[in-house]
Amino acid sequence: MKRPLTLIAKARGSPVRAYLSASALPETRRRTPEWGGAALSRNPLAAGTRAGAAPPWLAVQAALMSLVDSRVRSDWWDSPSSLFLQFDEPIDSKVCRHLIRRYTGQGKHLHSVFVFVQMQRVGVRPDSFTFAPVLKSVARLCLREMGRSVHAYAAKANFDGDVYVGTSLVNFYGGCLLIGDAHQVFDEMGERNSVSWNALITGYTHNRKFAEALDLFREMQADGVEPTEVTMVGVLSACAHLGALSLGKWIHEYIDCHGLSLNEFLGTSLVDMYAKCGAVMEMEKAFVAMRIKNVYTWNALISGFAMNGRGEAALQAFSRMMMENLKPDGVTFLGILCACCHEGLVDEGKRYFRIMKDEFGLCPGIEHYGCMVDLLGQAGLFSEALHLVQNMDLKPDPIIWRTLLGACRTHRNVPLGRYAARKLLELEPTNADNYVLLSNIYAQDSMWDEIAQLRAMMNQKALAKVAGCSSIEIGNAVYEFIASDCLKPEVHDLLDDIRKELKQVGYAANTGLALYDIEEEEKESSVAFHSEKIALAFGLIRSPPGSTLRIVKNLRVCQDCHVFFKLVSLVYKRGISLRDRNQFHHFAGGSCSCRDHW
Ligand SMILES: [Zn+2]
Ligand SMILES: [Zn+2]
Repeated sequence: MKRPLTLIAKARGSPVRAYLSASALPETRRRTPEWGGAALSRNPLAAGTRAGAAPPWLAVQAALMSLVDSRVRSDWWDSPSSLFLQFDEPIDSKVCRHLIRRYTGQGKHLHSVFVFVQMQRVGVRPDSFTFAPVLKSVARLCLREMGRSVHAYAAKANFDGDVYVGTSLVNFYGGCLLIGDAHQVFDEMGERNSVSWNALITGYTHNRKFAEALDLFREMQADGVEPTEVTMVGVLSACAHLGALSLGKWIHEYIDCHGLSLNEFLGTSLVDMYAKCGAVMEMEKAFVAMRIKNVYTWNALISGFAMNGRGEAALQAFSRMMMENLKPDGVTFLGILCACCHEGLVDEGKRYFRIMKDEFGLCPGIEHYGCMVDLLGQAGLFSEALHLVQNMDLKPDPIIWRTLLGACRTHRNVPLGRYAARKLLELEPTNADNYVLLSNIYAQDSMWDEIAQLRAMMNQKALAKVAGCSSIEIGNAVYEFIASDCLKPEVHDLLDDIRKELKQVGYAANTGLALYDIEEEEKESSVAFHSEKIALAFGLIRSPPGSTLRIVKNLRVCQDCHVFFKLVSLVYKRGISLRDRNQFHHFAGGSCSCRDHW
C-alpha cells in the first residue's frame, strides 16, 4: 500500500537502434563551397564586389549572416527555401546553424526544421551545435518521428557521443513525453554534465513523474554533480506537485548555503513551491526575500493566496502589484477571480472581470469564464451565470458546464443541473465524473430511479473512474496511497478506531449522500476507505504528535472525507492541510479554511 520514493527502472529499449539498422537517410556529403562570379552575382549583398575577384570567404559569410539576420528580424514569412535557391553555393554549416538558431529563438519552429531538412538535401553537414536548436524546434512541434530521425542522423554522423548533442536529445525525448527514451539516451551518454542531469530531471517533471524526478536529484548528488539554479527549479516543481514541504525547505536551505543566485526564476519557483505545499507564511517570506520580482513572481503569490483560501490577501497583493507599476496578465486575473470565488465576492469579481478587458485589454480565456460561472453559480445567481455561459465569446467547454453543474448541486437546482448535464454529456459522453456529479444532484432529492438509470448508462458504456490517490510526506519520504477495500488489517483497524472516536463527537457517515457522493473514486463501498483517509491514518501513526499533516489528493475531496478531516483536527488536535484537485483545505480545531465551500 505505502510506497516510499523508489528508484526508476532503467532497462528500456534503445530508441535509435531500429533506425540505424534500416536508416534511409543519405550519407552526409561535405560540399566545399565554390565561389564563382555567377554565384556572387545572385547575392545582392555582393554588389560592389569586383567581378572575377572572389572575396575572402569570411567576408562573404559575414554578409550572408547579416542577410539572414535582417531577413529573420524583418519577420520574413516566405519559405526559407528561397535562401537556398539564391545561395546554393555559399551555404555552409555555419550559416545554416545561424539560421536555425534564429528561427528556433523566434519560435518559427517549422522554418528551423525546414532548414535542417534542406541541409540534408543540398549535402551540408551539420555541426554538433546545430542539433540543439533543431531538436528544440522538433520537440516544440512534437514531431516525434522527425526527432528520432535527427537522433539516428546524429548517431550515424558520430555526434551522439557529444555531451551537447546527447543533452539535446534528452531534452527532446523528455519534451515529447518519451521519458523512457530520454532516460535511455542519458544512460548511454559517455560524458554527462549538470546540464544533462537538468535535462532529465526537467523531463521527468514535464512527464508528471515527480517522485522519480526527486529520486534523480538524489542520484545526481550521489554522483557528485553540483546542482545549479536550473536543477533547483525542476526539483522545486516536483516538490510543489507532491506537496513535499520538508524537501522543499531543504532545497531552500541548500540554495542559501551554496550561494545559488535567487533570480526571478528560482525565487518564483520557491514561492510557488511554498504556495502549493500550503505553507503560506513561508511563501510570503520567500517572496519578500526576493530582490527582483517579475509578473510571474507576483502571479505565484496571488494565486498562492487564492488557492490557500486567503482571498483578501490575494486582492491586497494585487493592489501592491499595481503600485509597483507591473502590468498584470491573464494568469494574474485568474488568481484574482479565484480569490473572489473563494471569498464569495461577487461584485468585486465582476469588477475585476470588467477591468481585465477594459483597462488592461486582456481577452478573458475559458478559465476566466469558468471562474465567473463558479462565482455566480455558487452565489446562487443562476440566471446571470447561464446568461454569461450563453453569451460568452468562446464556445463553452466541458469545464464550464461542469462548474455550473457543481453549483447546481450546491444549491439543489435540479432543472438547471439536468440542462447543464445534458450539454456536458453531449461534449463528454465517456467521462465518468459527469455522471457521478449528476447522480449526486439526484441523490440530494432522493431521485433513486434517475440514479439507477444513470448507473445503467455508465455500466453500458463501461466507463472507468479515475482511481483516487493521495500522498503524504513524513520525514523526507513521500508515501502514496490508493483507495482500496483490501487494506492492511492495522490500517483498517485504526480507521475503525478513529471512526468510533469521531462518532462520540457527532460524526455520522452521511449514508444517503455518501453512498452516491463517491466523486471519481473507484468503488462506492470504499467511501470509508478513501485514499486521503488512509493517508491520514498513516500520518497519525507515523508523524510526531502535534505536527501538521500534509496530504495531497488527485481528485476533489468528498463531503464525507471533509467532515472526517474536520473532526480529526478537533479530536486529535492536529493541523491538517489537504490539497485536492482544486484548492487547499486547512483543517484546525474542527473547521476548514474553505468554509465548507469547495
Ligand atoms: Zn472521500
Ligand atoms: Zn475544506
